[in-house]
Amino acid sequence: MSALLNLEQAQALVLARAAPLDGERVALASASRRVTASAARATVDLPPFPSSAMDGYAVRASDLPGRLRVTGEAAAGRPAGVGVTAGEAVAISTGAVVPDGADAVVPVEYVVQHDNEIDVVDALAPGTNVRPRGGDVAAGGVVVAAGVRLRAAEIGALGAAGIEALDCARRPNVAILATGSELVRPGTALRPGQIYESNTVMLAAALSAVGADIELLPLVADDEQSHREALERGLQADVLVTSGGVSVGPHDLVRSIAAELGVEEVFWRVAIKPGKPVSFGMRGATLVFGLPGNPVSALVGAELFVKPALRALQGLRDPLPRLESGVLAAELRRNDARDDFVRARSRLDRDRAVLEPLPGQESHMIVRAAAANALVHVPRGEGTIAAGESVGWIRLAD
Ligand code: AMP
Ligand code: MG
Repeated sequence: MSALLNLEQAQALVLARAAPLDGERVALASASRRVTASAARATVDLPPFPSSAMDGYAVRASDLPGRLRVTGEAAAGRPAGVGVTAGEAVAISTGAVVPDGADAVVPVEYVVQHDNEIDVVDALAPGTNVRPRGGDVAAGGVVVAAGVRLRAAEIGALGAAGIEALDCARRPNVAILATGSELVRPGTALRPGQIYESNTVMLAAALSAVGADIELLPLVADDEQSHREALERGLQADVLVTSGGVSVGPHDLVRSIAAELGVEEVFWRVAIKPGKPVSFGMRGATLVFGLPGNPVSALVGAELFVKPALRALQGLRDPLPRLESGVLAAELRRNDARDDFVRARSRLDRDRAVLEPLPGQESHMIVRAAAANALVHVPRGEGTIAAGESVGWIRLAD
């Protein structure tokens, strides 16, 4: 038991082999959730010209307070019009070019209008309600750094900065296959001894959430030839993820057939619970993850190994799952040899995350696990962690 790799060692072995894939040009409109492969820089100053933040009058601050003559109008979308000289004002709308000579905009609410003149009763500091050219970013400045997963705000920033397409990491293509002669897909009645296959759809959901381009392969019976054909097909992908068949039973064929096909195993079995029999290897540039068939083990293996690898393949910084901190609502017994990942519900109690372990912690109980939004990390060791003690946990968001 003590010879087993621990989680940190195993994750390090995976990440050391998950080198970023090439970049490709992606249209901004399709770039949501993609990861930047290089820094994206502004094509223009933003704003591109000094613009008004208000509907009102462009003025010279040094003329205020006072009565000013309105000499023209500046509307959004028009080039700069006449300038403003002493004693003058130009009516202006939000987003319009602030005319030369003006250095402030008096909001329309603060002005008393006469025919062609306005009275402004208060003084205004220079710059008030003028958005300076380049105030958000200067042309050539970094809008989004490399290695960032694009959220709505970044998409907006890129558009505003005039970027119509950008360099993103290629989405890793991931082949998923499930082994097990007992498996059938939902939609047909179960015959004796059969169960519904759920890992492929579950893994597809988990992995597409981190950018994978998924190919689901047909189910694989527990015979060598079926394994050979399916694994060879899956090995064409950037990442092959298998489910089942990595334990020590006579029908567990994934590792031996993978080895026969040239997959070099990097590790097999990690000191975690659930998910200990997980295997990892490579053939060429293809990463090969053998997840155990028990659904909760497969889910935890995807969180701890496959998702980090997919993030790293896309060049994301900090690819490992983020451990949040919280306190336990109920005592948990440690496992002396393995780091345990306990399914739990987190709730906020006076700004602290409180973690309530769920009933039904066995690794086949995926319905119980589906009620969890947290995996509590219980480090291997003696004794228990008491209620109220601090723990790290992984949020199950996707
Ligand atoms: P294995 O890892 O192949 O020994 O499978 C462990 C357990 O998980 C067995 O009870 C299998 O029936 C079950 N199992 C294996 N693959 C799947 C799957 N794709 N979907 C649901 N359950 C599975
Ligand atoms: Mg099996």
